[in-house]
Amino acid sequence: MAHIGKSACDQCSYCTEFCPRYLLGYEVQPHKVMRSLGFTLTGGDIWNQWSELCCACGLCTLYACPEDLYPKEACDQGKQDRRAAGLKFVQQAPVEVHPMKEYRRVPLSQLRRRLQVEEYERETPYQEGTSQPAMVRIKLKQHAGQAANPTVQDGKKVKKGQLVGRVEDGKLGANVHASIDGKVRAVTAEYVEISA
Ligand code: SF4
Ligand code: SF4
Repeated sequence: MAHIGKSACDQCSYCTEFCPRYLLGYEVQPHKVMRSLGFTLTGGDIWNQWSELCCACGLCTLYACPEDLYPKEACDQGKQDRRAAGLKFVQQAPVEVHPMKEYRRVPLSQLRRRLQVEEYERETPYQEGTSQPAMVRIKLKQHAGQAANPTVQDGKKVKKGQLVGRVEDGKLGANVHASIDGKVRAVTAEYVEISA
């Protein structure tokens, strides 16, 4: 991405002109960050400061750049490099909404076309049904925080809804339960496997 960007970016600045953060008045200018690709670390430090307030929405890469380059990824790298170098962002000008903000909103229909996701857009009616799996593997970490600790052993019979993994008291996490009646066939640190 960096090599292509370095040679192909013509500094048209479309990535910046469409950037929602820039339009809100923040000091984000991905076309300047793209300049960092052609510089040594010292030059990079100067241009990368324009990446700091990028929220990584991806609009510049996925929609705005007419050359299919990667300004969002350049901003990701810029932020990483600055963090590694211990550099802190300092807003240099007051935050003022860009006068063109309202006129540069990206129409969703065009965005969908550009992202080529239209073909996936169709009605998805709810289909009632039941499934009777012969075996289930229940992950002990299906949530933020800590994994649950298994509360069952190989060979133990369990009922649907029965606790099979418990999170330590006082820790963030969620207990997990058997989804079918059956017999425990395997217990690892990652999952509990139950045969119907
Ligand atoms: S829109 Fe693309 S070509 Fe234009 S400045 Fe940004 S990265 Fe470079
Ligand atoms: S990814 Fe960053 S630079 Fe690109 S449009 Fe979004 S906020 Fe702006």
